[in-house]
Amino acid sequence: MKLRKVTAVSAVVLALAVSATACGSDDKKDEGSSGGGKKIAIGIKYDQPGLGQKTPQGYSGFDVDVAKYVAKKLGYNEDQIEWKESKSADRETMLQRGDVEFIAATYSITPEREKKVDFAGPYLLAHQDVLVRADDTSIKSPADLNSKKLCSVTGSTSAQNIKDTLAPKANLLKYPTYSACLTGLQNKAIDALTTDDSILAGYAAQDQFKGKFKLGGLKMTNENYGIGVKKGSDLKAKINKALEEMVSDGSWQKAVDANFGPANYKNDPAPKIGDIKS
Ligand code: GLU
Repeated sequence: MKLRKVTAVSAVVLALAVSATACGSDDKKDEGSSGGGKKIAIGIKYDQPGLGQKTPQGYSGFDVDVAKYVAKKLGYNEDQIEWKESKSADRETMLQRGDVEFIAATYSITPEREKKVDFAGPYLLAHQDVLVRADDTSIKSPADLNSKKLCSVTGSTSAQNIKDTLAPKANLLKYPTYSACLTGLQNKAIDALTTDDSILAGYAAQDQFKGKFKLGGLKMTNENYGIGVKKGSDLKAKINKALEEMVSDGSWQKAVDANFGPANYKNDPAPKIGDIKS
């Protein structure tokens, strides 16, 4: 009798444990897109107007629109997205650790990064350029940068390209974010900020910098923006399909017009999935 009672109690405990486990997994995966609790963490930039920006009104930019479109195709509404800042130097680690499901953050596809993470895309082709003060006419080619004080970001292709090939003799300062370089450009602590033209156009168009800065127009590299996922993730194929649909149903062009229009950034046409320009 005593033994049977213990068994019955254990059965109840076991049943509770099983149903608790089932509930836990429901929360994460099994509920429909309208179900509560289901969330997806996505990495974006927070300080790049036109691409990825956090403002008191919310999150905006081309990368944000691409991320929202992809999330929707994966079964997540906007209110189920948990945005996380993914600074240039943190992106591979964030994906490897599983902090985010995917990253849409001006993230160039490169062979070095592909050793650590996988990329869907590309979904945009940008080019490395410089942002200088409006009255500066001294930079006409990448070689001119060798005598300059430049600012870029740790963990970016922009900083790496300067060191490796574009202007190895330049005096290069590296900050954690591009916005941190802007004050230096304004107060002449640096001569130029170098990164993708898409990002620089967004800064130049900001109210507080209007008329103060200009782009060099140098098109020094090809930057193929991809969506980063964990190595081996089956999300890559699903995201590629979503990106193709985004172009074919006109949403890609709509996002381009809405986000690059204000900065007058003349972007390249939509790249084909898997077509990486060297
Ligand atoms: N697209 C370049 C990169 O992925 C520069 C922009 C950035 O740092 O996000 O490194």
